[in-house]
Amino acid sequence: MKQDSQDNKQPQLEIRERAMVEGILEGSPDGVAVVVVRLDCGCRKMAAVSVDGEPASKVIMYRDNAETICDTCKKDQGAFMRVTEQFIHWQEPVPDAATQARIANKVFGTPHPSVH
Ligand SMILES: [Zn+2]
Repeated sequence: MKQDSQDNKQPQLEIRERAMVEGILEGSPDGVAVVVVRLDCGCRKMAAVSVDGEPASKVIMYRDNAETICDTCKKDQGAFMRVTEQFIHWQEPVPDAATQARIANKVFGTPHPSVH
């Protein structure tokens, strides 16, 4: 089997993540993509985004094989400093590169708003 270079490929969703992503997109008519955030504790944070890069669903947090998210996440809601990986899963048909860049920039571009 040939292995493509990673760069222009979407990170692979885990099986449970995929199920969550599909559920989120089904409930979000405006959603063109889902932001997937993996936290160091094993919990996941996801939210659909619209073509404008605006939130298109509530933020969903969950933990595999658990009724609730972990205590740390309950406290900090999945703090940015604990993020191990974050990426955007695009719904088919995947938007063109310019649209992807615009949305990604809006979603990840300014994680720390400047303070005066
Ligand atoms: Zn957690």
